[in-house]
Amino acid sequence: MSVKVKSVYEPLNELTVIDVVKPLNFFDESTANDLIVKEIGDGNLNLVFHIEDPLSKKALIVKQALPYAKVVGESWPLTLDRARIESDALSQEAGSVPHLVPKVYYSDSQLAVTVMEDLSDHVILRKGLIEGKTYQQLAEDIGTFAANTAFYSSDFYLHPFDKKEQVKQFSNPELCKITEDLVFTDPFFNHDTNDFPDELQKDVEKIWADQDLLREVAQLRFSFLTRAEVLLHGDLHTGSIFVKEDSTKVIDPEFAFYGPAGFDLAHFFANLALNHLSQNAHAKEPFHRESVQSFLLQTIEKTWETYTETFKELWHGKSSDPFTKIEGVLESFLQNTFQEVIGFAGCEMIRRTIGLAHVADLDSIEQKDIELFYKKKALELGSYLIKNQRKFTSITQLKDWIRGA
Ligand code: ADP
Ligand code: MG
Repeated sequence: MSVKVKSVYEPLNELTVIDVVKPLNFFDESTANDLIVKEIGDGNLNLVFHIEDPLSKKALIVKQALPYAKVVGESWPLTLDRARIESDALSQEAGSVPHLVPKVYYSDSQLAVTVMEDLSDHVILRKGLIEGKTYQQLAEDIGTFAANTAFYSSDFYLHPFDKKEQVKQFSNPELCKITEDLVFTDPFFNHDTNDFPDELQKDVEKIWADQDLLREVAQLRFSFLTRAEVLLHGDLHTGSIFVKEDSTKVIDPEFAFYGPAGFDLAHFFANLALNHLSQNAHAKEPFHRESVQSFLLQTIEKTWETYTETFKELWHGKSSDPFTKIEGVLESFLQNTFQEVIGFAGCEMIRRTIGLAHVADLDSIEQKDIELFYKKKALELGSYLIKNQRKFTSITQLKDWIRGA
């Protein structure tokens, strides 16, 4: 939609945000003065406004990037360009999987806003999982999302000139730096961004002293820094996925960039694994716990199966690269990707336990000693995955290790 709005950056508020949506003619003109506006974001990085016409019940979302990030009271400048990246990534994803992302109605890179479909009838997957809910459509949807967005952005599909253009378009240095520091560096050294209780000190020091582990992390980090294989979501944890019974929507791709193909699924699997651990505390009734945990493991398996099947189909049906016709090339690409999934997942499990940004799944365990017990398990499993990634050849092995953790 092309409309003219004033385009000098200023943070919006519940009044000025109306000026952004009015020209879009989304709402009936007669009710334009009665719109109900609520800021619903958590305010760390972005403003998220929910705007509703109480008569027609039509609603939309305006997300605006703030020029800084706030974490534990500190603030540091952060590029507004991430709003452009987010709306570009949503549009790109909509090219192959329109049913799995929110519709974008309008975007303005000066104002750093994306106006999009309201998904308030969905819940954030992390929240649903902590409450012990299960979602039968999830695995197929995330596998389909990851395979399509990977294949259509890769050199297996794109002309090399277009691929390089896209790598430029999705160059995202400031948000990548956050991942480089908070996922791949700080948790593995005695850094002041780390955050863990004293009771974990010994376990953390074991990680910091483990040279074999650190050598593997160095490789994974180098791969993240250098391997522009496919367009990634960049932050595909369970807080970036909206779900309801029969629908899945992947939101918040402000970390999108070109990186190694296994990165997104690794984050998805690591967050499911952390939830799996936390269910030992959250799901009190054994039968229910059993069924939630088996759902989580099945989701991991089915996501990977859907990913590989979909990727194979696209590879054979849509690729113009002559090497895709050579036997074994696809299998070796998928096996490399799989090993990195395991390694990256290990890094994510560790950083979510001792780094700056934690997950509510573990942090919300009521009893402190139980919380510590499962955090230790998360560190052990994360370390094992990183150090043994090359031994993993099938998704069943990953399921077994999570089940046995
Ligand atoms: P941030 O990057 O600041 O975390 P998100 O895109 O994750 O921003 O959005 C923050 C919260 O705002 C989400 O957890 C969700 O509750 C709400 N939200 C975001 N996008 C939508 C949407 N399209 N529909 C409804 N709620 C949304
Ligand atoms: Mg975000």
